[in-house]
Amino acid sequence: MSIWWLFWHLVWLIICFPGPSHWKEIAHSCGGSAQSPINIEQQQVRLDPGLGRFIFEGYDSAPRGPWRLLNNGHTVELSLEGAGGQGQLCIQGGGLSHSYCALQLHFHWGSPTSNGSEHTLDGQRQPMEMHVVHMNTLYQSLGEARGHPRGLAVLAFFFKVQNKDNANYNTIVSGLRKVSYQGQSVELASTFRLENLLPERRLLSSYYRYLGSLTTPACDEVVVWTVFKEPIPIGRAQLAQFVSTLQASPVDAPPVSMRNNFRPAQPIGARRVFASPSGAPAFSPSAQMWALLWLLLAMACVGVL
Ligand SMILES: [Zn+2]
Repeated sequence: MSIWWLFWHLVWLIICFPGPSHWKEIAHSCGGSAQSPINIEQQQVRLDPGLGRFIFEGYDSAPRGPWRLLNNGHTVELSLEGAGGQGQLCIQGGGLSHSYCALQLHFHWGSPTSNGSEHTLDGQRQPMEMHVVHMNTLYQSLGEARGHPRGLAVLAFFFKVQNKDNANYNTIVSGLRKVSYQGQSVELASTFRLENLLPERRLLSSYYRYLGSLTTPACDEVVVWTVFKEPIPIGRAQLAQFVSTLQASPVDAPPVSMRNNFRPAQPIGARRVFASPSGAPAFSPSAQMWALLWLLLAMACVGVL
């Protein structure tokens, strides 16, 4: 390995992989005041009774497809639009003002020794995170949706690691080695019920909501974020496949492992994070509330009340 090879490798890395702290130099929005991801302080969220259950359309049947798995150099992405165009897998309710239909899903992960979710819970990074990206049906194209606040709705799911594989992820995990390098893609042999990738339906009423951005340039601030509390189980060996199989570099370039492909938490600023009624922290009386309760109890005991 010559010194020149090392030099050009370094130049290539700097040009092709500018770190998130430099994104605002290439895309103005990345320095904005409503960026994602964020850290969610679970005791600081505000209950919003308007955040009801989601209605998932088409999630319970395998669509026509085909679905394509793609290594885009930053993540591995599964297209969900299918031959019939977008409109097959849609969500409503969940406090959304419009219907949104799925475009793609993708993942963020860490390294062999560290976690890699984008959002963090009380400062804790989770093992992995999946984003299912939906577009507002008011708009005809992603380009148009990216020009409007609430143009996109992203459903974010954390993962928890277990020893046993999650068989529902076998199709995606076995496809990873066919898309090892940037730009490679493969058509999945078959589609499947998207709900198979998610936690049980009854556990999806518990979530956090805030307004934010795409987490890669151009960081457009057009995303209604839903971060679900219930994590998805994934096998230790399956997660290791994401960490070890994928390269951020094309097949003919010096290899760069695709690891830690998450953006650090961005300032919340003036924004609030809301919780669905079943996602809000359990009621815990303050010290003053306890004092009042004891006083009322004491008064009741001596017959004042
Ligand atoms: Zn993402």
